[in-house]
Amino acid sequence: MVYKVGMVSLGCPKNQIDAEAMLKKLCDAGFEITPYEAEADVIIVNTCGFIEEAKREAIDNILDVCRYKAEGNLKAIVVTGCLAERYKQEVLDELPEVDAVVGIGKNGDIVQIINRALSGEKFCTFAEKTQLDINSPRMLSTPFYTAYLKIAEGCDNCCTYCAIPMIRGRFRSRKTGEIVKEAKQLVDLGVKEIVLVAQDTTRYGEDLYNRKMLPQLLDELCKIEGLKWIRMLYTYPDRITDELLDTMAKQQKVVNYLDIPIQHCNRNILKRMNRTGDRQGLIDLLKKIRTKLPDVTIRTTLITGFPGEDLAEFEELCEFVKEAEFDRLGCFAYSEEEGTIAAEFEPKVDKQIRFDRAETVMNDQYTIVTKKNRLKIGTSQEVLVEGYDKYIKMYFGRTKHDAPDIDGKVFFKSDCSLQTGEFAEVKITDILEYDLLGERI
Ligand code: SF4
Repeated sequence: MVYKVGMVSLGCPKNQIDAEAMLKKLCDAGFEITPYEAEADVIIVNTCGFIEEAKREAIDNILDVCRYKAEGNLKAIVVTGCLAERYKQEVLDELPEVDAVVGIGKNGDIVQIINRALSGEKFCTFAEKTQLDINSPRMLSTPFYTAYLKIAEGCDNCCTYCAIPMIRGRFRSRKTGEIVKEAKQLVDLGVKEIVLVAQDTTRYGEDLYNRKMLPQLLDELCKIEGLKWIRMLYTYPDRITDELLDTMAKQQKVVNYLDIPIQHCNRNILKRMNRTGDRQGLIDLLKKIRTKLPDVTIRTTLITGFPGEDLAEFEELCEFVKEAEFDRLGCFAYSEEEGTIAAEFEPKVDKQIRFDRAETVMNDQYTIVTKKNRLKIGTSQEVLVEGYDKYIKMYFGRTKHDAPDIDGKVFFKSDCSLQTGEFAEVKITDILEYDLLGERI
C-alpha cells in the first residue's frame, strides 16, 4: 500500500527548508505526498516555536488536523520543527492525539519515524541538534521560479529575548561548495531567484573559514548562468561590512535589498538585549548603505515593550523610525520566552502597552511606505511575474525590491499574455496600500 503524507509547515523559510528535505526523503522512499490533508494517511506538522504567537499557531494547526483522525482516514500525526525540539515530551503529554514528536536532529530518520507512527507506536525521538543535515536534498515547496537556500544553521548571537539558539543550537555554516552545488541544481530546475537564509547570514563562514565569507559566496553564486536574482535575508547590523556592500554594488545579480533586523535603537535597551549600537550608529550605518547602494531597499524588524522600556525610550524609537525611513518594517510586541535571560528582567511592560506601541510604530511606518510608494508612480520596474488574478483581471508579481511572502506586490494590466516566472517591464501608475499598480510596457 502506498501511504499518503501531508505536510503543514509553519514559521520561517529555514523551517520550510527542513520540511522540503523531509518530503524528499519520504518521496524517495515511495510515499505519496498529497496537498489534501483530508486524504492523508499521516500528516506532519512542522512547527515553529520561538514566541508565544507561533506556539499558539502550531497547537491550533495540530488540533486542526486531529479532526481528520476523528473523520477516519488519518492514521498518524507527527510533530516536527521548533516546538517539538523545544518542548519534547511535553507535546505528547499535552496533545494525546499526536503520535510522534521529533527533534530537528532526527529529521533525517523521517521515513522510519513515519513507519513507526503508522504501525501505531506513540513516541518521542531526539538527537543532537547538530545531527540536522543542512545539506540534505529537497523537494521544493516554493513556486518553481524562486527558492530559499539555507547557508547556515543555528545562532551564536544570543540576544537575551531569543529562544532560537537553545532550539537550533550553535551557528554552523555550510561549505561554500555544497551551497553552490545546490544553487546550480535549483537553477537547473528553473529557479530564477534564490533567497539566502540563516539566523544570521552575515556571519557566514566565521566558524568554518575563520572569516566572514558572504561576499565570496555571493561572487561564486553570481557565476551561475540562468540565475537572475540573489537576495539575502536576516543580516546582522554589526556585520554589514564595506566588503559586503561593495560586492552588492558590483554584482548585478545580487539585488540591492537588505533585511537587517535591528530590534531597537536605544543604547540601553540594545545592551539589555545583548546587542550593540545606538541610534546615531544605526543612522550612520543606513547612510553608508544608501550612499554605496542608492536604490537599496532596507527592511527591518523592531520589538516594542522590552522589559524596562520607558516612554522616553519608546518615543526615541518612534523618532528613529521617522528619521530612518525604512522601506519595509515589521514590529512585534515583546514576548517573554521561558528559558531566555530577558524573561527574568524587570520591570515588565504591560502587555497591552507592548501591543499599542507596536501598533503606533506600524501606523507611522504606513505613512512612510505610502509616501515612498507614491514616488514610484511614473517609474518603470522589472517585475517577476507570479500569476494572474482572474477576479481583478490583472497579473501580479514582485520587483527586486520585494521579498517573497513578506513584502508587497505589483498588480498590473498587460495587453499580451504572460507566463509565470518570466520578467515584464511595468510602468507604475498608482499605489494600493503596500502594493503598486501598473501596466506592462
Ligand atoms: S540574531 Fe536572531 S536568531 Fe540569533 S539570537 Fe538574535 S534574534 Fe535570535
